[in-house]
Amino acid sequence: MAGLNGSTERRREDGRARREAEALLETRTQELHQAGEDFRAMSAALSVRVAELEAERSLTLHLARTDALTGLLNRGAFTSALIERLEDAQEAGEPVALFVIDLDRFKHLNDTLGHHAGDLLLNEIGARLRAQARPGDLVARLGGDEFALISFHGDVAARADQITAALAQPFWIYGRTVAPSASMGVAVFPGDAEDATALQRFADMALYRAKAGGGRRASVFDNALREASNRRSSLETDLRRAIPAGEIVPWYQPVVNAQDSRIVGVEVLARWNHPEQGLLLPGAFVPLAEELGLIGQMDATVFAAACQRAAPWVAEGLIDTISCNVSPRELLDPSFSRDLIGRLRATDLPATALTVEITETFLVDDLDLARRHIERLAACGVRVALDDFGTGYSNLRALMQLPIHTVKLDQSLIGDVGREPRVSKLVRAMLNAAKSLECRIVAEGVEDEAQALFLRAAGCDRLQGFLFARPMPAEAVEVRLRQSAAATGPLPAVAPARSRRAG
Ligand code: C2E
Ligand code: CA
Ligand code: CA
Repeated sequence: MAGLNGSTERRREDGRARREAEALLETRTQELHQAGEDFRAMSAALSVRVAELEAERSLTLHLARTDALTGLLNRGAFTSALIERLEDAQEAGEPVALFVIDLDRFKHLNDTLGHHAGDLLLNEIGARLRAQARPGDLVARLGGDEFALISFHGDVAARADQITAALAQPFWIYGRTVAPSASMGVAVFPGDAEDATALQRFADMALYRAKAGGGRRASVFDNALREASNRRSSLETDLRRAIPAGEIVPWYQPVVNAQDSRIVGVEVLARWNHPEQGLLLPGAFVPLAEELGLIGQMDATVFAAACQRAAPWVAEGLIDTISCNVSPRELLDPSFSRDLIGRLRATDLPATALTVEITETFLVDDLDLARRHIERLAACGVRVALDDFGTGYSNLRALMQLPIHTVKLDQSLIGDVGREPRVSKLVRAMLNAAKSLECRIVAEGVEDEAQALFLRAAGCDRLQGFLFARPMPAEAVEVRLRQSAAATGPLPAVAPARSRRAG
């Protein structure tokens, strides 16, 4: 009985255990199934996310390559595309033409019609270029009003004319027609240039020639431009060597007192004693030095040499002012004024005898930085002159806002004074404006007596020009200074600058 009971009991337990095991299996199976479902859902969600990320990535990539205004390639994308295209073309043995386009007088349009109108025009130009593109061509906006087209298709000159003409079609904007005008430069790979950098440079040179010829035209790179480019490269090599070698030296042009024509100052003008080409004027090397980023180094050398050479002239009372030119580029350097003061202190020239001539280009670029430099110089007693006064449109604002000591009336205004009544009136008005701000006025480019008479009567303080003396080397100018002083005696010693206007 006990045995029977025992086996029944065991069977019952076995049954319970089996049921429990089956229940557990069922639960686990369900869990596994659920896990499988979860996994599938997760994996579906994950692939959606991956697709989203991929879309975002290609959008970002697209935006990074696209000019937002016109939808064309931007400069970065253009540069890499050009390199790729040239590689492909080299393999295929095909030429590639690069057309660079720049709108004429776009800034004027932007200023008169407003930026929105400017944007509309840029957009229209982009659309027209796109319409001119042939299969496989690439169109880019390089920035501002600069565009480019890369093309495999031949007959470059005819196409250049055709595209320029298409861009010049009138455009209806804010109820008036605007006739856009574009200049274009073209260069071909591999005929003209052997790599992307050279191709761009040569197309730019051709563009520059188109602009210089009056704009609204296309110009194709040719032998004349190649020779100019070679000359430039060798001048560039020479210039890099010439600055440390001391080939660029200060010359000095006397500045006279308007009343008695006695010499009271000198302007320092750089000259290059080129070993093969002889004496070169700044027009031949200052723009190049600016472009190569060498102007700071060049001006520092000329400046130091001139201040040291002129210090005894000031000490003897032969002159009271030495004026040095600085390039607008240098003034963009935040440490410009501090560096200049440092260099001046290394010479024997008193700060109050130094005038630094700046041009308005810089004032337009960054008025706040200009103010800091000018105030720092003024605080040390160095005077600041606004050069080429009367050639721009923002000078009056600068004059009102900045401690400018001297204005130099540009020579382009002097030509007809005393002869053309309208010019005389205008110059007189400008002189009055400068005078009411207590600036010293120097007229430059005075070439004849009639001009000198007029400027003297109109209240100019000082005059400079071929009528009195041309720029000359240190030894020659020193002779002139002594002759001038011998006639009238030494100038009063240079005093610390207190008032803005000192004789
Ligand atoms: P700028 O500062 O306006 O200098 C006056 C220019 O007019 C000088 O030309 C001078 O020789 C010339 N000039 C003076 N009187 C007369 C005249 O009566 N008639 C005519 N037709 N011209 C006259 P230059 O020496 O060829 O210098 C040209 C420009 O180069 C200067 O114009 C100045 O902007 C720049 N420059 C000259 N030296 C330096 C320098 O050391 N550093 C920098 N950054 N620029 C310089
Ligand atoms: Ca000057
Ligand atoms: Ca000038």
